[in-house]
Amino acid sequence: MDVRMISRVLWLRSVLRSRERWSRARLGEYQRRRLALLREHAYARSTFYRHFHQGLARAPLAELPVLTKAALMDCFDDLSTDREVRLAEVEEYLETLRGDDRYRGRYWVSATSGSSGRKSIIPSNAREWATVIASYARANEWAGISAGPLHPMGMAVVSSTTAWHQSARVAATVRSPFIQSVRLDAASPLPEIVVRLNETMPEVLVAYASMIRALADEQLAGRLRVAPRAVNASSEVLTEETRAMAARAWEAPPFNVYAATETGGIAAECGHHQGMHLFEDLVIPEVVDENYRPVPPGVAGDRLLVTVLFSRTLPLIRYEMTDRVRLATRPCPCGRPFRLLESIEGRTDDLLTLPAQGGGSIRVHPVVFHQVLDLLDAAGWQVRQEDKALEILVAAPGAGFDPADTARLVQAALASAGALPPEVRVTIVDTIPAGASGKRPLIVAAPGTS
Ligand SMILES: [Zn+2]
Repeated sequence: MDVRMISRVLWLRSVLRSRERWSRARLGEYQRRRLALLREHAYARSTFYRHFHQGLARAPLAELPVLTKAALMDCFDDLSTDREVRLAEVEEYLETLRGDDRYRGRYWVSATSGSSGRKSIIPSNAREWATVIASYARANEWAGISAGPLHPMGMAVVSSTTAWHQSARVAATVRSPFIQSVRLDAASPLPEIVVRLNETMPEVLVAYASMIRALADEQLAGRLRVAPRAVNASSEVLTEETRAMAARAWEAPPFNVYAATETGGIAAECGHHQGMHLFEDLVIPEVVDENYRPVPPGVAGDRLLVTVLFSRTLPLIRYEMTDRVRLATRPCPCGRPFRLLESIEGRTDDLLTLPAQGGGSIRVHPVVFHQVLDLLDAAGWQVRQEDKALEILVAAPGAGFDPADTARLVQAALASAGALPPEVRVTIVDTIPAGASGKRPLIVAAPGTS
């Protein structure tokens, strides 16, 4: 256990807590000050940003170019503000990573699984890493979970168990003092996960939304018998239907948390469950359309740009995330100054491109599938796009399930969305297979079509 890191996190948690009472004006003033410091740092220390923002040093944020994941990884060495941080070396280090080891003795490195495209790799110095941990702690606190040295808590995380996954790295840092966490591989067979959870009886259950749905189904069927005080859903779209199932299974609604390797926690639900509050003291979010123009509250954007105010090793200014999110039009009754995200509608990658009725092609929103498949009495579903057809996996449906009927309903829904209905095959499976990262995405687009 790293005592200095733990005390840093405890201090930051109280700092973060105090900002929840700020006014909107005070928050805006703080963002302006922190953004100026971030840009000053980037221009002084990063060769990449000196060129990328050339002539724009005084331009407002909204006029700066967008940083894509591809640019971040292609220009990693120039973008880094520490000349000793080199991508090739960091990659080599990740291959042998164990527990709470640090790169060059001072960087905690997390990486995405790279299951959906390119891997992103983020090194964090002590201050950045403490902030990432504090951002997750904030989400937990809002869910009524406040672990600390005086009251450690039993947590089960059903996720990716690879050592470089951010949640694994956070767990390795905070292990003994705060949290007795058990990590279960989301990619292992569901019955195995159920057995382990029954043995562990966690106070807090954290899982991808698709896994929460499967586990709620197991609980309602009587095979899973856990009684967590809180259930946190992470990293995936939490549908209304999964939310309702989890509420039935564990007698309380789950708390949705939105996080990414590049940012740590970005948004989380408070006890009012009106949406997720953006952590606007840590990131400046911009919801934009496909041409990077801002979209108003109530309208789903195509991209979310984030400026990570505490990023220093790799400054992230207008970094592009392909999540489709919508800002709420109404404030939350809790009075926190942070705006609400009404929903995450999925990733832009989740849109399926299909031939349109009038010729050309059309992008079909996941909601078209939700409206049919969420009504099924089943443990889960997945739509997989193939060359000319769609395959729909339905996990462990109840008696009376009719695959042909479901295929027809999906075709009708696609037709009313303007698509030329493709061939639809419905296949019954025991469980939805997990990808390399352990996630079970609802929609899997054929490569190169979205
Ligand atoms: Zn609230």
